[in-house]
Amino acid sequence: MNLILMGPPGAGKGTQAQRLEKKFGIIQLSTGDMLRAAVASGSDLGKQAKEIMEAGGLVSDDLIIAMISSRIDEDDCKNGFILDGFPRTTPQAEALDVMLKDKGIQIDHVIEIEVDDDAMVARITGRYTCSGCGAGYHDEFQKPATEGVCDQCGGTEFTRRADDNAETVRSRLDAYHDQTAPILAYYKEKGNLKGVEGMAAIDDVTEQLNGIVG
Ligand code: ADP
Ligand code: ADP
Ligand code: ZN
Repeated sequence: MNLILMGPPGAGKGTQAQRLEKKFGIIQLSTGDMLRAAVASGSDLGKQAKEIMEAGGLVSDDLIIAMISSRIDEDDCKNGFILDGFPRTTPQAEALDVMLKDKGIQIDHVIEIEVDDDAMVARITGRYTCSGCGAGYHDEFQKPATEGVCDQCGGTEFTRRADDNAETVRSRLDAYHDQTAPILAYYKEKGNLKGVEGMAAIDDVTEQLNGIVG
């Protein structure tokens, strides 16, 4: 089973993808995570992406398309994957179609997590991640059971993203509405777009998704 999760920054794509990954044994492919790994490693791709990401802009389609195409070819994607943060532009959506056709793969569901923009600033500025296992948390909305200790791996170190600040959120939301939201119409026309109410509690959103996917 192959899924695409759509929604603006802070909608809950990463949070829900981690849960779908566990429940259905399909792998989360986050282009944001891949780019952050490239930045951390200091690779050519990372050097090209760093400043754009910090400013809340979009990295060039060519780089992203090449990155995701080779990632999908890896063995761990055979069972299925969840695209989180890709496609983000119409050229990326079109390139994905060509790529999947070539590889003989189909997307089963494109799911939009529907949220109010105004709530996304608080979600993003409170977001943090376990450095050990990548589990996602929030200062207010998703605290670990024991403060300072990761529920998943027991780790005690956490990181916050350089771009998760109030100034950048606005540019990222603008980029979403200008460049990413138009893809929703593209999928709607193709007939495989579904929506979930993303302002609901995290567990409730998970249930809605399980209802679509399971
Ligand atoms: P995205 O991957 O779409 O940018 P995340 O899954 O990282 O979004 O979620 C952003 C932040 O909001 C995280 O800190 C997460 O814990 C929190 N969050 C996710 N879904 C919800 C929700 N339904 N209600 C409240 N907070 C949420
Ligand atoms: P969020 O979780 O807030 O939705 P991501 O982790 O998906 O953000 O992406 C972080 C940043 O990485 C984006 O602001 C953008 O600069 C870059 N990026 C990620 N995916 C793409 C993509 N498909 N196309 C272009 N840029 C991307
Ligand atoms: Zn952890």
